[in-house]
Amino acid sequence: MEKNFPLRELNTFGFDVKAKYFQELKSMDDIHQLVDNPEIKRSQVLILSGGSNILFSNEFYDGFVVYPNLKGIETLEESDKAVLIRCYCGEVWKDFVDYTVSKNLYGLENLADIPGKVGAAPVQNIGAYGAEVKDTVYQVHTIDLTTGKIKIFSNEECRFSYRNSIFKQYKSFIIFAVDFILNKNGELKLDYGNIRNYLSNNNITNPTLKDVASTVKTIRAEKLPEVGVVGSVGSFFQNAIVSEDKYLEIKKLYPEVPSYPADNSFIKIPSGWLIDKAGWKGYRENHVGVWDKQALVLVHYGGGNPQEILDLMGKIQNSVKEQFGIEIKPEVNII
Ligand SMILES: Cc1cc2nc3c(=O)[nH]c(=O)nc-3n(C[C@H](O)[C@H](O)[C@H](O)COP(=O)(O)OP(=O)(O)OC[C@H]3O[C@@H](n4cnc5c(N)ncnc54)[C@H](O)[C@@H]3O)c2cc1C
Repeated sequence: MEKNFPLRELNTFGFDVKAKYFQELKSMDDIHQLVDNPEIKRSQVLILSGGSNILFSNEFYDGFVVYPNLKGIETLEESDKAVLIRCYCGEVWKDFVDYTVSKNLYGLENLADIPGKVGAAPVQNIGAYGAEVKDTVYQVHTIDLTTGKIKIFSNEECRFSYRNSIFKQYKSFIIFAVDFILNKNGELKLDYGNIRNYLSNNNITNPTLKDVASTVKTIRAEKLPEVGVVGSVGSFFQNAIVSEDKYLEIKKLYPEVPSYPADNSFIKIPSGWLIDKAGWKGYRENHVGVWDKQALVLVHYGGGNPQEILDLMGKIQNSVKEQFGIEIKPEVNII
């Protein structure tokens, strides 16, 4: 256990945050020992992986940061059609996706290059380019830090939905491994974002799994700030999910409004579009701003503090509410 531990390298916003207590966990033994540590019982606890979806609201975290970092990838079962793979929480997500693509396994290619670790992927049911991790998760292995008990959640028990799962409520459960089912043959998802356009502009008429993964990487690199260079958490806000009436009201005023079907006949409007229309794209105020290539992304240019991002968040939320009557919610976990 370390004290007063610097987290600057463990939050992609790059804020100079310190944690009162910090412990890395490399094995199940480490986890069991931590369960018996009296300090963990007394403290507020945060499970932290890559810190690419966390905004510390203060520069001192007055609690215990637990950093699960178990490594390993195992093939558990294989049939003619599919493979069941276990991946431990500390593996880097984008390396795991590259590994599955290199084995010609379908399912994760649209999720290429999302920052962070495998253990965090189920927490907000990561998604990009028309895919969500829930479609490949078979089960999630957890251990409850308050009791030391292991619980395996089936896909259904994870209660996945848009950028959400049961793990957002079960904050003392460490996800130490995730089992994925990936197909040997699958259908490529090309209809979201610019994937199809990009492929045809590059004369790729019969794309392979690898083509899709590399297209996703290229499009992402063009639109998103590079981790480690400009501080961000990717999409700061969730996309807006609105009723059909609300959507039609907006479409009347802005016929070009983009939209996608969401669950239960609701409609998803990209919040990046709303923020852009409200005039924020490329805005900068001291050390923070709105990314000029994607308005959904708030950025920290260095030398700033979390309050500057929180202030900017509030201003954007108010302005979108005023213009469209829609409340956009943060996707990032504010701690
Ligand atoms: C440039 C950029 C682009 C991004 N693009 C996308 C995108 O396209 N789609 C998308 O969905 N997200 C995206 N994100 C957000 C982020 O990458 C994902 O949410 C990612 O899964 C977070 O992983 P992490 O390891 O950094 O988790 P952290 O930020 O450390 O944690 C995120 C949450 O998960 C919990 N958690 C972490 N590890 C565990 C564990 N082992 N057990 C239990 N709980 C845990 C934490 O307590 C926290 O609540 C992007 C971020 C950046 C910086």
